[in-house]
Amino acid sequence: MIRINQLALEVTHSHGALKKKAAKLLKIQEPMIAGISIVRRSIDARKKDNLLYSYIVDVKLADPKKEAQIVKKAANNNIKIETEVPYQYPKHGTEKMKHRPVVIGAGPAGMFAALSLAENGMAPILLEQGDPVEVRAKKVGDFWKNGYSHLDVRSNVQFGEGGAGTFSDGKLNTLVKDVSGRNKKVLELFVETGADEEILYDSKPHIGTDVLQTVVKNLRMRIIEHGGDVRFNSCVKELVIEEGSVSGVKMEDGSIIETNHVILAIGHSAREFFKTLNEQKITMEPKAFAVGLRVQHPQSMMNLSQYGREDAGELGAAPYKVTAKTSSGRGAYSFCMCPGGFVVNASSEDGRLAVNGMSYYKRGGENANSAIIVSVTPDDFPESGPLGGIEFQRRLEEKAFELGSGKIPVQLYGDFAENKMSEAFGNVTPQICGEYAFANLRELMTEEMNQAFIEGMAEFGRKVRGFDRPDAILAGIESRTSSPLRIVRDDNLESNVKGLYPCGEGAGYAGGITSAAMDGLKVAEALIMRYNRF
Ligand SMILES: Cc1cc2nc3c(=O)[nH]c(=O)nc-3n(C[C@H](O)[C@H](O)[C@H](O)COP(=O)(O)OP(=O)(O)OC[C@H]3O[C@@H](n4cnc5c(N)ncnc54)[C@H](O)[C@@H]3O)c2cc1C
Repeated sequence: MIRINQLALEVTHSHGALKKKAAKLLKIQEPMIAGISIVRRSIDARKKDNLLYSYIVDVKLADPKKEAQIVKKAANNNIKIETEVPYQYPKHGTEKMKHRPVVIGAGPAGMFAALSLAENGMAPILLEQGDPVEVRAKKVGDFWKNGYSHLDVRSNVQFGEGGAGTFSDGKLNTLVKDVSGRNKKVLELFVETGADEEILYDSKPHIGTDVLQTVVKNLRMRIIEHGGDVRFNSCVKELVIEEGSVSGVKMEDGSIIETNHVILAIGHSAREFFKTLNEQKITMEPKAFAVGLRVQHPQSMMNLSQYGREDAGELGAAPYKVTAKTSSGRGAYSFCMCPGGFVVNASSEDGRLAVNGMSYYKRGGENANSAIIVSVTPDDFPESGPLGGIEFQRRLEEKAFELGSGKIPVQLYGDFAENKMSEAFGNVTPQICGEYAFANLRELMTEEMNQAFIEGMAEFGRKVRGFDRPDAILAGIESRTSSPLRIVRDDNLESNVKGLYPCGEGAGYAGGITSAAMDGLKVAEALIMRYNRF
């Protein structure tokens, strides 16, 4: 296969232009190209009056024997012979499992771990405390409409089939280096279960919450088709541990499922279970993360800044990423940016309020939003030990709940900077799922963190015109940006208790949908390599 990098075309190019340009770069006639496939597509918006797509493509020749000669004649550093090795599950080990493996948590990590085990004949049992996605979606809608009297602490934006990312923008990009091919495998599985093919090559792939819900259901069906069990409303209360090894899981109803292999994919918000694991002496450590406020701007303003035009058209709502180092040494940066999206009440506990962001596949909302967050470390936590970060988050979320009297506390950025309450919105119209009310958000974080936030906003205002406009809408608190702890695992991916495999974001080994799913694959591979089919 011949791979061409940096093949540039105007964003309005015709379908046939790709093949035409490839033939020109290879200095050959078009009919000599039997096929062309897009490996990567990114937008080059450096020249606003000439927006380009930059492609990486693979070219299949009608006569493959001519590849080397043509590459040589093209004499172009961006043109090479490419041999990509597709992802493959490892060969089975020989050890025998006495009981079926158990996966706790049906988020991306748990679902991809269970799917891999099922497709390799290991008959996993996937346990999820929340509801199937269809039921969960209804409960989330009720909560956003009617408030905390309708909050189900087991089925909400954080918990339930599909995990935390189901009501999200479904951004799939990850910074995890992918030498194993797991990233592509995860994206291919998303496409096979309903996502659009463009996620395979888009430089900033996203699924959108509406499509994600279908994908999650199809993943469930595939696990079941391959001999896995998926059990909902099945909350694991504690582990059964004998002589340093796991021998079962104890359910909320007191029943015990016998197993010697547990994949712990419980996510970053399984706070009560973290406490139990700590009491059961599972080695865990506190971990740095970040907290902040979600900011809304008109999407047209971001399109203008990124593309030089307010209407994004075929390019889709423009994303952005901003970072700054502040005088206190804390980093300030944008997180989980949702183009054409909504701010959502992402709480999972009574009396505590956390926000996050979501978009639908089309990203057609009038606002862009992201969390502007500042870094925090265990030094900021109110107590030492592995659970200090949870206490830190809970105190912030209690304050947010109080400030808004159970509604999402909001404020205009100008008023935040001047430390005064807002009375009315400006030219930015709030796009929020969940009830909201004006409050002074300066009362949420420490003043030092507030100053870091303000410094960051000013810096971003220098990079993106209007980013620090006084009528930008703030909402708080964004507290669940990643896990506040790590569950220690060794090179076999096992914890200090044999047979227990910490996995995904909650365990501190992933940050985001794709990296969590990749970690699920990685942990499943460890079991496949050691054990035979069940
Ligand atoms: C609103 C929102 C938007 C987001 N947007 C994006 C985005 O656009 N792109 C992106 O990459 N990431 C996004 N994220 C982050 C992403 O969702 C997470 O990184 C990812 O879901 C982590 O996957 P996970 O499988 O490790 O854990 P989770 O998805 O958190 O899943 C853990 C599951 O375990 C279950 N569980 C916990 N304890 C128990 C128990 N005791 N018994 C049984 N089940 C249990 C939970 O109910 C949950 O369903 C978003 C998160 C939120 C909340």
